[in-house]
Amino acid sequence: MNQLSDRINNLATSATLAMAAKARELRAEGKDIIGLSLGEPDFNTPDFIKDAAIEAINQNYNSYSPVDGYVELKEAIITKFKRDNNLNYTLPQVVVSTGAKQSLANIAAVMLNPGDEVILPCPYWVSYSDIVKLSDGVPVEVQTSIENDFKMTAEQLEAAITPKTKMIWYSSPCNPSGSVYSKAELRALADVLKKYPNIYIVSDEIYEHINFKGGHFSMAEFDDMYDRTITVNGVSKAFAMTGWRIGYIGAPDWIARACNKMQGQITSGANCIAQRAVITALEADPSSIKYMVDEFKERRSLILNLLSEIDGFKTNEPEGAFYVFPNISSYFGKTIKGKTINNASDFSLFLLEEALVATVTGEAFGNKDCIRISYAASQKDITEAIRRIKTALS
Ligand code: PMP
Ligand code: GLU
Repeated sequence: MNQLSDRINNLATSATLAMAAKARELRAEGKDIIGLSLGEPDFNTPDFIKDAAIEAINQNYNSYSPVDGYVELKEAIITKFKRDNNLNYTLPQVVVSTGAKQSLANIAAVMLNPGDEVILPCPYWVSYSDIVKLSDGVPVEVQTSIENDFKMTAEQLEAAITPKTKMIWYSSPCNPSGSVYSKAELRALADVLKKYPNIYIVSDEIYEHINFKGGHFSMAEFDDMYDRTITVNGVSKAFAMTGWRIGYIGAPDWIARACNKMQGQITSGANCIAQRAVITALEADPSSIKYMVDEFKERRSLILNLLSEIDGFKTNEPEGAFYVFPNISSYFGKTIKGKTINNASDFSLFLLEEALVATVTGEAFGNKDCIRISYAASQKDITEAIRRIKTALS
């Protein structure tokens, strides 16, 4: 008999992590799978950051850190917010967590009461909806279109607002669409939100540096949104530090204090060695990671060119992050190699089984017509993967 709580029974498994696990399993069985499912840079963490971690170990950083992070790290975060985002935060407004994922889970736990609605422009990052549901919130999906680069318009936002709306969560650059909201587009959303002073905003900026058009803008830069915005960021993507597990927020101090309190009961402070290393990462000029961003940009051109040669892939040009999100709905209803493709999950499974390429179904991101392909892989793997996909579909 299932004795587990309704909470866990109702929770979906993270589709990105599930696909990565499945690819690992098939590889262990000897299958030559190319993994384009996980959003994880394939670079090593830069040496200057690794050296800082080794030094921290040798300096005997081995005790619990303050729950909300070392003061030196919070100061480095404050300097980073000022330097890169023109945002002024003070020490009580910053909380360091075990990855941006925990930052988001903290926010949901401290902000949502049962039935509170959270607007999620689709496609949204896979875990948003389940993190919201875990805190008894209700995700409200707003469908966007490829023609508008998968961005939510002011009219769509306004139409989704109800008396129960508590928050809106979005990422820019967006995982999975790669879309980047311009200052003008954010201002249009802010103009709507101005009329609803009780709605709070989560601006997830974890892909901030992986931006090919330049001009990252933070919602909190608008004076009238600053007191209502929680800026989420982390080092996983830009610094190739996914496994180090450090994320952070800048927020109104009452929200930051609540996140600190929450974390104090469930995890305590984040890993102390990783925190020391992140001080060094954030103090470095962003030019120190430009070689990775340049490489992602080349891979984006490569994958867009290769995909344009396959019938039935409709793809917009992502401006940041390291994903493409093609619409593959023209395959729905078709039978290829004896397999009928009725939806994006079938399509993604077909690619795994017939092309040995792991991708993620768009359904996990709130979009039924697309799949996500991560190009955080070598150019050789990308080229071979798309060749296999083309062959499997022809
Ligand atoms: N937000 C977005 C948009 C992401 O893609 C990720 C990737 N895992 C996260 C948050 C969480 O990042 P992490 O927990 O590794 O800091
Ligand atoms: N954010 C990455 C992704 O979307 C990592 C996996 C995860 O944390 O879910 O694939």
